[in-house]
Amino acid sequence: MTALTAFNRTTEQWKQIDTAHHMHPFTDFKALASEGGSRLIVKADGPYLWDSEGEQILDGMAGLWCVNVGYGRKELAEAAYQQMMELPYYNTFFKTTTMPATELARKLVELAPPGMNHVFFAGSGSEANDTNVRMVRRYWTLEGQPERQVIIGRKNGYHGSTVAALSLGGMSAMHTQSGLLPGFAHIDPPHHFQLGWGEDEDAFGIRAAGWLEDKIKEIGPEKVAAFIAEPIQGAGGLIYPPRTYWAEIQRICNEYGILLIADEVICGFGRTGTWFGSFTFDIKPDLMTIAKGLSSGYQPIGGVLVGDRVANTLIEKGGEFYHGYTYSGHPVASAVALANLKILEDEGIVDRVGSDIGPYFQGRLRELSDHPIVGEVRGIGLIAGIELIKDKAKHEFFPNAGKVGTLCRDHSFRNGLIMRGVYDTMVLSPPLIVTRDHVDEMVGKIRRVLDLTAKDVG
Ligand code: PLP
Repeated sequence: MTALTAFNRTTEQWKQIDTAHHMHPFTDFKALASEGGSRLIVKADGPYLWDSEGEQILDGMAGLWCVNVGYGRKELAEAAYQQMMELPYYNTFFKTTTMPATELARKLVELAPPGMNHVFFAGSGSEANDTNVRMVRRYWTLEGQPERQVIIGRKNGYHGSTVAALSLGGMSAMHTQSGLLPGFAHIDPPHHFQLGWGEDEDAFGIRAAGWLEDKIKEIGPEKVAAFIAEPIQGAGGLIYPPRTYWAEIQRICNEYGILLIADEVICGFGRTGTWFGSFTFDIKPDLMTIAKGLSSGYQPIGGVLVGDRVANTLIEKGGEFYHGYTYSGHPVASAVALANLKILEDEGIVDRVGSDIGPYFQGRLRELSDHPIVGEVRGIGLIAGIELIKDKAKHEFFPNAGKVGTLCRDHSFRNGLIMRGVYDTMVLSPPLIVTRDHVDEMVGKIRRVLDLTAKDVG
């Protein structure tokens, strides 16, 4: 029961009000209204959600890849309450700080790869990526190479929805609607199933990394500032890198001296079975974007972990850095993030994803490979993609990429499982506290949903 239950509105009334006044993110407003409005989620516990009709839904996406410790954690509510009573807000501008912000910076440095000794806080992943753009350009200016402006990202990479973040990202529909800022370029992702099928995966990994070198040469190495990528590409369709890919990317960045930004917004805080995707894939980034799992979504908070190369230049040569957000290092969000990191540590959640529940989840999902419309199952830890295909033998994809994925997603929602469709890849990223029983329930539901989808398109 929340205070809002006292309004005593019916589901229909809530939907009408929502449709009349609330513009949702990434939504076709008119289409949503014509479908009768949004499903109203009213409570959650562990990996489950409940809607206003009382229906229980297994959240295979941990919200938006973020509720790592699961729903209903009283410790996080307590941390927020205590901090709000003590100091609900103060900023970190103008030579002030708060204990939660300072302690969170220390804790993150302890968890981060060696050589990342500083943190800049933001309110979200998008904001943190804007900070990356600011830092990278400032770094090169201070290093006497101001012409190094271009940041290279990947097609279908997702780094957020502000204008700078969407420019770092490679979502063409976002570029078309909002305009791509100058100074950004994109290469193809290492999507073996779509771009390298039939080719040895290791060889493809090297070839795909080589697209970065090609792009650097095309632009002119003296103009390239940085490369940004997610360790595993999430919102672009769960693109899992061949094992040769990251080492070659690292070599290319080193050779041309360009900065490497790992966007850990999805992969961070245990998702791949280590604290950061950079550990899983042995990436040595100069900057790391964090958000989502940092607070398990209980509070909006993001940030950039800054490696010594960039930090030393900004500190030693930079003077004042004209950048920051009202909510940089927000004390309540920081206190909740600290309590969240404590849960992840105390309960051994990250290790369990790496050694137990992650391998179990991946193994059980791979059993679905025998399904007639499943082309490939890929992933690691508790992040996975199931790519749907029309004809396995001919490696023929469904026409109108996304149509069948949406159909499958809708079946999934109706059958009590949240599974997201990106084009025709079904994506899963459940809370990290799921048990084997939850995984079994998920796999059972997915098989049923795949059967229903196959029937529709058969
Ligand atoms: N980076 C990645 C890899 C993401 O997946 C997202 C969001 O999904 C973002 C950045 C943007 O984060 P936010 O939505 O908190 O701005």
